[in-house]
Amino acid sequence: MDGKSPITELKGIGEKTQKLFGKLNIRTVDELLAAYPKDYELFREPVRIDSAESGKVCAVHAAVAGIPNEKRIRRLSILNVNLSDGSGSLQLTFFNMPFLKKTLRQGGYYVFRGLVQSRGAAKVMEQPKIFSWEDYRKLADRLLPRYSLTKGLTNQAIQKHVRQALSLCDFEQEYYSDVFLSENGLISRRRALEDIHFPENYDALILARKRLVFDEFFEFLFLMRQNRDFGRQLESGFRMPETADTARFLERLPFPLTRAQSKVWQEIQADMEGPYCMNRLIQGDVGSGKTIVALLALLTAAANGYQGALMAPTEVLAVQHFETVQDYVERYSLIFRPVLLVGSMTAKEKREAYGRIASGEANLIIGTHALIQEKVQYQSLALAVTDEQHRFGVRQRERLAEKGAYPHILVMSATPIPRTLAIILYGDLHISVIDELPANRLPIKNCVVNTAYRPKAYQFIAEQVEQGRQAYVICPQVEGDSEDAEGGAALENVVDYAEKLRNVLPESIRVAHLHGKMRPGDKNRIMEEFAARDIDVLVSTTVIEVGINVPNATVMMVENAERFGLAQLHQLRGRVGRGKHQSYCIFLSADEKKESMERLQILNRSNDGFFIASEDLKLRGPGELFGIRQSGDFSFRLGDIYSDAAVLKQASEAVDRLLEQDPGLERQENACLKRHLAEASSNSVDFRTI
Ligand code: ADP
Ligand code: MG
Repeated sequence: MDGKSPITELKGIGEKTQKLFGKLNIRTVDELLAAYPKDYELFREPVRIDSAESGKVCAVHAAVAGIPNEKRIRRLSILNVNLSDGSGSLQLTFFNMPFLKKTLRQGGYYVFRGLVQSRGAAKVMEQPKIFSWEDYRKLADRLLPRYSLTKGLTNQAIQKHVRQALSLCDFEQEYYSDVFLSENGLISRRRALEDIHFPENYDALILARKRLVFDEFFEFLFLMRQNRDFGRQLESGFRMPETADTARFLERLPFPLTRAQSKVWQEIQADMEGPYCMNRLIQGDVGSGKTIVALLALLTAAANGYQGALMAPTEVLAVQHFETVQDYVERYSLIFRPVLLVGSMTAKEKREAYGRIASGEANLIIGTHALIQEKVQYQSLALAVTDEQHRFGVRQRERLAEKGAYPHILVMSATPIPRTLAIILYGDLHISVIDELPANRLPIKNCVVNTAYRPKAYQFIAEQVEQGRQAYVICPQVEGDSEDAEGGAALENVVDYAEKLRNVLPESIRVAHLHGKMRPGDKNRIMEEFAARDIDVLVSTTVIEVGINVPNATVMMVENAERFGLAQLHQLRGRVGRGKHQSYCIFLSADEKKESMERLQILNRSNDGFFIASEDLKLRGPGELFGIRQSGDFSFRLGDIYSDAAVLKQASEAVDRLLEQDPGLERQENACLKRHLAEASSNSVDFRTI
């Protein structure tokens, strides 16, 4: 068996399990091993009942006091068991497990592990796991992997299959040379895969992770830099002087450009007029007004008789851009003849759009990335703008050029990436920064609070909705099973939370939920309904991060804010404060540790994305390697450009050295690496999916 073998070659995986794994996009053994744990469960030493904190997952070692008491409500069996360990007592509740009556004998000692909750003055645990003292000892202080699951596939089952794969699989050979490994302080690939799934201890986990993160960065950077066009200034096939159209547009706009917008617009103009193809990144915080700048560039292309394309990461955002443009065309008599291109259009509508694009009748094409880049024949595409996409590389540029000349490229991003990292990640892009917000904004009012504040927050949301506004509530999880890995507070989930809000908010308030596991059509519908004000409160995971612009929304409430990176919270905050109304951000932390609260307070003090990202890094220790991901913008599985910045730099230098010493990877010791990279290149995914 090797990595390419289908997982059905593993014992115990039949057709049914194969289907379940299919839902997680796991088909081969390699894919199974690359489905890294999302975090690890640490079985801590049992605590005394009197110090078992409510809201945390704990283990207690205690005796069964009294005879278990079973109640039946229709077909539901409820078994209550009292525990005592001398320091206090605790009540256990089990549902539909009547057989435990026999197992849990009065006076017997066991370890019980579960979420501690308080019910009145009493402490309770529902459905705890039961261990003998000896069994628990074996687990204590071990890190056990927790995987992303799907219904029907348990964590234990995945662990078992991964163990089997690790022991049976003939691994792909190590592809780095020994010298390379030692130069870069990396452990072997086999070791890394074993330890990422079943680490002996924390140090082993760190080393495993480093190796795998290095691989991701190395591959990405190598493939980018090895391309023959990398770093080359391509001659421009479209030299476009400024026309009167942009000045007229600016005159009619109800607001002046900010100083930063003007500066960036001038840089773009110089590129478009100059001898080389533009390849520029605009970094600007949420709300800094990147769209107008892009439209000025697109207008210049149209005025010169060419086509421009504006690509967005989600359909909803594409539709919103399209509507903005249509509105501007009418209001300011712009020369755009826009056409929309998104997946949900019918085949006929798409055909019509393709026709108008091929004939040149349309001079501005707005749509989602994949459609615009892969399926369209242009008459004369001179400028491609991508919004909130980060991996726009040489290959995509080639694809857009197809037979014609290379278009100018403008990439817009709200992710604040420090310059040193941006140079590594974006390679040959020139960087412009819009480092100023329009002056007319009412600053967002922030608060960082604990869960006791919830009733007030709901009251506040209800009041805002009464005034005609809308609100977002963000939860970290999609559904159920909210035990936290490190025994921290329970995590809120979107599905149950929406249900709860429907109950606590006045009936007239329309609550809906949204998450990444929903079908694309359903996601779009919900986002559209929210944008159209048919939904008042949207309970969502972070999928709404970049995908939506609803100026009427004035409240952003984030549950379990302690679980998110600050930069990500900042992006979430950018979803409000986009209109003329005062906006509010409520960061609710379930973890009242001083450090957590202090970290969140940074959001209170600053509105500057760069500052926030760098403060976040300073405050984070190695203990937070998992669980907090700063940005999903680059589709690395494990690597995080912020917290793994040091590895990113190291991988970048390793790529440079290798390309200098052996650019064609002809040397014997690089043969495996060459094969591996060729394969990675053909498999590499260009687009992130939301
Ligand atoms: P982002 O950079 O997050 O994409 P947008 O381009 O969507 O931001 O702009 C956010 C809002 O700010 C829009 O409603 C836009 O019309 C407005 N805006 C843009 N530039 C200015 C400006 N110079 N002064 C006032 N409002 C502006
Ligand atoms: Mg934008």
